[in-house]
Amino acid sequence: MTVISTNTPTPELQALDAAHHMHPFTHGDGLRDKGARVILRADGCWLTDSDGNRILDAMAGLWCVNIGYGRTELADAAHRQMQELPYYNTFFQTTHVPAIQLAARLAELAPGDLNHVFFASSGSEANDTNLRLVRTYWAEKGQPERQTIIARWNGYHGSSVGSGSLGGMKGMHAQGGMPIPGIAHIDQPNWWTDGGDMTPEEFGLARARALEEKILELGPDTVAAFIAEPVQGAGGVIVAPNSYWPEIQRIVDKYGILLIADEVICGFGRTGNWFGSETLGIRPDIMTIAKGLSSGYQPIGGSIVTDAVAEVINQTEFNHGYTYSGHPVACAVALENLRILRDEQIVERVRTETGPYLAEKFQAMTEHPLVGEAKIVGMMGSLALTPDKATRAAFASEPGTVGLVCRDRCFANNLIMRHVGDRMIISPPLTISRAEIDTLMERAWKSLDEAMAQLEADGLMVAAPKV
Ligand SMILES: *Cc1c(COP(=O)(O)O)cnc(C)c1O
Repeated sequence: MTVISTNTPTPELQALDAAHHMHPFTHGDGLRDKGARVILRADGCWLTDSDGNRILDAMAGLWCVNIGYGRTELADAAHRQMQELPYYNTFFQTTHVPAIQLAARLAELAPGDLNHVFFASSGSEANDTNLRLVRTYWAEKGQPERQTIIARWNGYHGSSVGSGSLGGMKGMHAQGGMPIPGIAHIDQPNWWTDGGDMTPEEFGLARARALEEKILELGPDTVAAFIAEPVQGAGGVIVAPNSYWPEIQRIVDKYGILLIADEVICGFGRTGNWFGSETLGIRPDIMTIAKGLSSGYQPIGGSIVTDAVAEVINQTEFNHGYTYSGHPVACAVALENLRILRDEQIVERVRTETGPYLAEKFQAMTEHPLVGEAKIVGMMGSLALTPDKATRAAFASEPGTVGLVCRDRCFANNLIMRHVGDRMIISPPLTISRAEIDTLMERAWKSLDEAMAQLEADGLMVAAPKV
């Protein structure tokens, strides 16, 4: 066996990685040629790579490190729990203190009568649970024909077969036989790309009414649930116009359809409230949680359901569960994370202090010649890049070409921003300071300048013809 350490030279680490490690959402040969960036350690909002670079992580890992890196309290909580009870399951009439405590705490935090938690180890697993849970709910209610779940194109709900089918990522559907039957998709409320001549408010209503049209097309008695992210994350931080969610709520209420809010990104302070549903005024029957629940320090997710849903499910034996549902170490770490979020008033600070400060700086990015719109809710934001702001034009190049140029300039400037197509997105740790926000915006502006110079040199500042 080749023995390596954090002192092993980068090329050796990269070669061994390429030889044996298959990466998610990565072109394997492409990665082998370029070499993966090796992250050695992290503290606060900052990563250190194997070449000694200090990198500002404006994505909080994958949208999850809400309290920032390096919190030893979470390590201590894991250490204590591993010594006391490293593992036990919650099947077959057993339970343990960390799962009891975390479920009770989540019931307190979640709005309304969302009081019951089914644990998983990830957002994907939790959405697989939801798929079976809503169908079981309707079967128990004596309406087994209610099977179909409506979701949105370009939504993201995970990468397992079930959750990937709920998601609306066509590139994912193309590989491995997705979507599974019983899932229908409607268009997303992305005014920048799809709004045409409508005002955002008109467009928001139109896109919400697409849900009603789909329900009527399928037959109202066949629809089990509608699932959506309060703010689409992986789809490019798409913030719906204000008219959208009230109309969606009206429609799901009218047809008695269960509403699943996928809070995997929006939950735990990201939008300036504990849950995105509160920020957007949504009343879900089920919420999917993961990511910020443990700030990514341990893999854990789950579904929080209302009293009414739990009452129906509890009438039967729900033949579902994971070996690690309610894993004690993950629960203990999540509890400590929730304690820090509360005691340090991190969610309040996002809502009233650092969030508004970031929003002001982020909006100012629209003064950059490459940026058409800036959208931000709490600490998740996106910039639409365009060669022509007046017409909201797309680039003539393959979507994502320009975004990738920008992303690479950010990397070169030791800033982690992601691109989704030709949108640039941020989702920093919620603990980011004003000074760090300033650094983030300076590096982003510099990266856009450099990207634009490169795009001009390469003849890429060209608008696609209007369709
Ligand atoms: C990341 C994500 C998921 C999937 O979570 P995993 O832990 O990666 O399985 C589900 N829904 C949303 C909204 C997400 O952002």
